[in-house]
Amino acid sequence: MTGISAGKRSLLGVFGGTFDPVHRGHVAVADALMGALPLSGIVFVPAARPPHRPAPCADAGHRLAMLRLALSNDPRFAIDETEYQREGPSYMADTLAILRSRRAQPLALILGADAVVGLPTWHRWRRILGLAHIIIVSRPGCGDRPPEWVRPHLVDSGGELLGADCGRALLFTASTRPESATALRQALATGAAPEAWLPPEVSAYIETHGLYRRSSCHDQG
Ligand code: ATP
Repeated sequence: MTGISAGKRSLLGVFGGTFDPVHRGHVAVADALMGALPLSGIVFVPAARPPHRPAPCADAGHRLAMLRLALSNDPRFAIDETEYQREGPSYMADTLAILRSRRAQPLALILGADAVVGLPTWHRWRRILGLAHIIIVSRPGCGDRPPEWVRPHLVDSGGELLGADCGRALLFTASTRPESATALRQALATGAAPEAWLPPEVSAYIETHGLYRRSSCHDQG
């Protein structure tokens, strides 16, 4: 699945997303987590058919290609294509079950503070905490108080995540990142590409393939 080796006492980060497109915020968050927590690596899991949101703008192949460019063979990061290989909606609970069956290492699902609010609407969402820990990353405009249901699961440090296989939650509130794929798509549609938010290779790919032009995307109205 990944070239990431499982450290003796370490977690495998799982960073799911639509990545429509991947942006510097995603990569910076992954980088910061690697520097601060006992993670042996982070597996990015692009959602082929995300069930909890409108259909992505770019097709699954383009989103995967951009993710590959953004991660540029950094050995700390890998891409898992599990959700591209199975039929039907890309449910995270199913994906985590597959990842767990492949590795003995505890998993830590990485969620932005916006995403964790929506988690109770996800398919079999309580199962997710039976398969993984969650790491909640702060995001501008999302406040710093986690939803009520998170509180019984909270621990104070990354080290405490290692004390169990799953079911714990950690708030990660290091420097927040302003990037958002929605804002990027809207800016790209008007031709005002915010270069600082995109890895240059991803920016070039978007240009070459004519992605995120007004006529081709649902949320650029
Ligand atoms: P969109 O605006 O389309 O929802 P996004 O920028 O949130 O896109 P996603 O691919 O949906 O990107 O995000 C994947 C995960 O990364 C989600 O858990 C999301 O909360 C998190 N995330 C995205 N951008 C940031 C950011 N700037 N800071 C912290 N977390 C982020």
